[in-house]
Amino acid sequence: MSYMHWKVEIKNNVTWAYFDKADNAVNTINNEALVELEKIIQDTDASNNSTQGLVIASKKTTGFIAGADIEQFTKIHDSERGFELIRYGQKVFSQLESMRKPTLALIQGFCVGGGCELILACRYRIAEESHHTRIGLPEVLLGIHPGWGGTVRLPKLIGGLKAMPIILSGKMVTAKSAKKLGLVDIIVPKRQLESAVNFYMQNRPQKHQANLIARLSNQPFARMLLAKVMRKQLAKKANQAHYPAPYAAIEQWQKQGVADSAYEPEAKSIANLFVTSTAQNLIRVFFLQTQLKAQAKNITHTVKHVHVIGAGTMGGDIAAWCALNNIKTTLQDKEMKFIAPAIARAAKLYQKKLKQPHLIQAALDQLVPDVSGEGAKTADLIIEAIFENTEAKQTLFKALEVTAKPEAIFATNTSSIPLDKINTVLDNPERLVGIHFFNPVAQMQLIEVVRGDKTSPDIVKKAICFVRQVKRLPLPVKSSPGFVINRILLPYLMESVLLIDEGYSKESIDKAAVDFGMPMGPVVLADTVGLDVCLSVAEELIKHFGGEVPQCLQAKVAEKHFGKKAGRGFYDYKNGKLIKAKNSKLVSFNDLEKIQERLIYRMLNEAAACLREGVIESEDLLDAGMIFGTGFAPFTGGPMHFAHTQTKEKIVTVFAELSEAFGDRFKADAYWTAP
Ligand code: NAD
Repeated sequence: MSYMHWKVEIKNNVTWAYFDKADNAVNTINNEALVELEKIIQDTDASNNSTQGLVIASKKTTGFIAGADIEQFTKIHDSERGFELIRYGQKVFSQLESMRKPTLALIQGFCVGGGCELILACRYRIAEESHHTRIGLPEVLLGIHPGWGGTVRLPKLIGGLKAMPIILSGKMVTAKSAKKLGLVDIIVPKRQLESAVNFYMQNRPQKHQANLIARLSNQPFARMLLAKVMRKQLAKKANQAHYPAPYAAIEQWQKQGVADSAYEPEAKSIANLFVTSTAQNLIRVFFLQTQLKAQAKNITHTVKHVHVIGAGTMGGDIAAWCALNNIKTTLQDKEMKFIAPAIARAAKLYQKKLKQPHLIQAALDQLVPDVSGEGAKTADLIIEAIFENTEAKQTLFKALEVTAKPEAIFATNTSSIPLDKINTVLDNPERLVGIHFFNPVAQMQLIEVVRGDKTSPDIVKKAICFVRQVKRLPLPVKSSPGFVINRILLPYLMESVLLIDEGYSKESIDKAAVDFGMPMGPVVLADTVGLDVCLSVAEELIKHFGGEVPQCLQAKVAEKHFGKKAGRGFYDYKNGKLIKAKNSKLVSFNDLEKIQERLIYRMLNEAAACLREGVIESEDLLDAGMIFGTGFAPFTGGPMHFAHTQTKEKIVTVFAELSEAFGDRFKADAYWTAP
């Protein structure tokens, strides 16, 4: 029997069903694949079939299963249809679970969402012992929760106490952790996978049973107590009004437990979540991320050697990140004493990320201190991260034109100097592109790829490709003051400082932003970025766009209260931790809403200006940039998507009222009224 999405083979008298989704680089489960899987299950378990069991594996080199096909989710507009789809998946997985013959999932690479729910329905689970193996249930990140039995089978297998944090966080676990949790039976190196499968199929050991503590944690009384604690912890991280899914997952587990009767309510709960604006917007965010990644799809360009010049805050961390991504990296600064701290930071980063000594050593081997700048002669890409000074950058690139390979890409990490100013000294200005990393490099997913008027489109493409090579999200933008992210963020930060100037408490301002859905308030953010950095960016942008620097920001910088790094900014800090004031005054709910409006509308107006000026190509790209670059409330789908939940007239009216009250900075950008 042949299938579109599965390759079925008989080996050692066992049926091997390899998932190999047609026309797709990765395996995602859609209805068609489920229908075929149901057929495979029934055929294998039929009495006239002499094979001894069913092994489910993947034919893809990209991993086991990346989850359910999210395209399908976008077509669900009513909860009844969602319920039907989910129930069918549950039915197929129940058939898999109740097969008379033993079933085994062979996991290599990622095993995510629906893929994880599939393995939970198998009798045995064997995972490859590799750092590529990642298992998890990230559904909450899409505004839903597991629906093909995950909220039932995972707690049943390892106990609610350990299972619920996996479901609620959406985080992946490694092969080692999966073994420790009891989520997989055994982990083995690649070369022994097949013999491990044969052993399980021939000897049919007892299937994994949850231990006593795990079983106790699923008892009604324990569920009630644990659910209470989980809700409390969750409330610190996610507002239920914005992110209902994890709360629904707790409710499901608390009320239904792990009995067979729990599947139908699970399907009902997720079907209701599907149609919420949060789920629709988070699914949109998922596709925006895919869109950013896809920009590098048809470009084949590999950077084998990066040379980074300037080993300070940015250059040092950029070099460390490149080496972590397995690119030979030379790091240049004026003296070794400027490079040494960067290498020490890199070692710390690798320790945290890679854990195993041989992997840490391998990454460190890729990072080479290079005071003499020899690396610039052979590098494919040269990233400049020296002081923010036009002449210094020009002198550097001019010299590089003589020493570097003719085809090497020149990149600058400048935050504010126009590319077409730096490149005026170059014989070949088309080779200069901006690759604008954000601070802290190891945490920020987004990188702006900046093109000047003279930058060649081919160089831009190659820069985008490099950004994907280092596993980051490229945002193409036109060279213009502040590019996109800093330009939109700055008015928001400045409005918060103006609000302080007007006498509002910093706590109220931060609360207003966090209540809206921002990851942190603008005042804490300004302190974190550094008030001196905020001031210098503000001064730079004001030169181009007008406005004034708020008085209290200037005062703070004059007093050297630079923020978190100085132990004092708008807030006080001890050992890098914010000291909360005991009796801080919060304004009324009405005032919080007014503050929120001012903060968000400043951002919306600047976003509109960037679109009107063509600094960024589309609203989708802008939304993606703001979500992945600043954490702009993901459940809203991004600033422009949020703006469109209101009518044009309403937006223009709000701007008119705000500009009447607070001046021209709220004058509606022409973008809002453009046809
Ligand atoms: P930094 O002051 O921490 O580091 C600059 C380093 O460059 C110093 O170690 C210095 O010794 C070295 N340097 C100066 N001239 C040199 C030369 N001719 N040859 C070799 N080394 C030289 O600066 P930073 O904060 O890392 O910023 C670097 C660049 O990145 C700037 O253009 C800045 O605008 C941009 N940027 C900074 C941030 C940030 O948050 N700090 C964020 C994004 C972009």
